Amino acid sequence: MYDINKKTLKDMDFKGKKVLVRVDFNVPLKEGEVTDSTRIKAALPTIEYLIREEAKVLLISHLGRPGGEVNEDLRMDAVAKELANQLNKEVKKADDCIGKEVKKAANNLENGEVLLLENSRFYPGEKANDPEFSKKLASLADLYVNDAFGAAHRAHATTVGVTEYLPSAAGFLMQKELNALGEVMAAPESPFVAIMGGAKVSDKIDVIKNLINKVDILIVAGGIANTFLLAKGYEVGDSLVEADKVDLARELMAEAEEKGVNIVLPIDVVIADEFSNDAETQVVKVDQIPAGWQVLDCGGPESLEQYKEIIKNAKTVIWNGPLGVFEMEKFAHGTVELAKALGQSDAHSVIGGGDSAAAINLAGVADQMDHISTGGGASLMFFEGKELPGVVALDEIE
Ligand code: ADP
Ligand code: MG
Repeated sequence: MYDINKKTLKDMDFKGKKVLVRVDFNVPLKEGEVTDSTRIKAALPTIEYLIREEAKVLLISHLGRPGGEVNEDLRMDAVAKELANQLNKEVKKADDCIGKEVKKAANNLENGEVLLLENSRFYPGEKANDPEFSKKLASLADLYVNDAFGAAHRAHATTVGVTEYLPSAAGFLMQKELNALGEVMAAPESPFVAIMGGAKVSDKIDVIKNLINKVDILIVAGGIANTFLLAKGYEVGDSLVEADKVDLARELMAEAEEKGVNIVLPIDVVIADEFSNDAETQVVKVDQIPAGWQVLDCGGPESLEQYKEIIKNAKTVIWNGPLGVFEMEKFAHGTVELAKALGQSDAHSVIGGGDSAAAINLAGVADQMDHISTGGGASLMFFEGKELPGVVALDEIE
């Protein structure tokens, strides 16, 4: 078992205590309704535990990007409503996250009651990790719990700053994420395969650099494969590339070879004459990409055959980043087929990244995965082998 050496819920006594809980309720909204409650559901074990332990539960989260000021469209009211549905219990809602009124509401809570505070990013002090703002937040409560794995890669007031002023512990979701990701990175069973896709090489460089020291096979696919193909001397037409990363791609491939890691690039790809679901498409070998065309899915039949064979033999697989522009149906095939192959394999499978998780849901194989992380940026930072500020800040077990 991977040991985070941090206090968890079982190390604290909550009865009658006001507990400030950082959750990740950064959920998608449409017309004042929550359209995907995955993140709310993921926080329920911690919230329900605190209710059972008779804590006074103060929940805080960011929502969207209000840029440090009040934005009526990004209030937490819809989230409070959805949380009440999920808990089957009243959830009180404050219209601010600091100040006199909020303090009063917190002090008026009965044991086991839940109060959702307003969007923390209405204050610039949140992202700035401002000590004054952190102090005000901390003054609402006796204890602090961080269950927002999805925000743990950020050193903000609600993830790091408040821990200066309150005893702090990890929530159940935080613990579960750290255990699942920690275990796969610390003691993966071989063959260990990483599948890296997505759009931007620059987002994934540090992940690839770290994984080269851990995995046996690294599948490079999605938009980032184009830059690697270019580095190998192939023409990629109008495909998305990062010209300033070609040398780096070449260096990474050389480093992988030195370390005996097999970097696997696509063999054939789906190309389109424009970036559109109405585009004309063809499947071609990677050395046959004509000028004026772009690669929008790495899942040509031979590429997929190759990926499936690798997955079939793998014991551990981590996946971050779709194989193609899966948001468009025409270019979702490779990503969906890969997800299905993962679903069928016996390998221990861990998925990180918001779009990859969405692709797994699209393929209907979420149940077959061992772990789907609720954190995109946070899981990437974990795969980079770096410590997450929101975790580092928590109290250690004495
Ligand atoms: P995750 O959220 O799982 O970490 P990323 O955000 O890194 O994944 O990448 C997802 C994005 O990559 C998707 O929006 C997808 O359309 C894009 N993408 C994948 N393949 C390509 C490609 N060949 N060309 C352009 N964009 C691509
Ligand atoms: Mg993404």
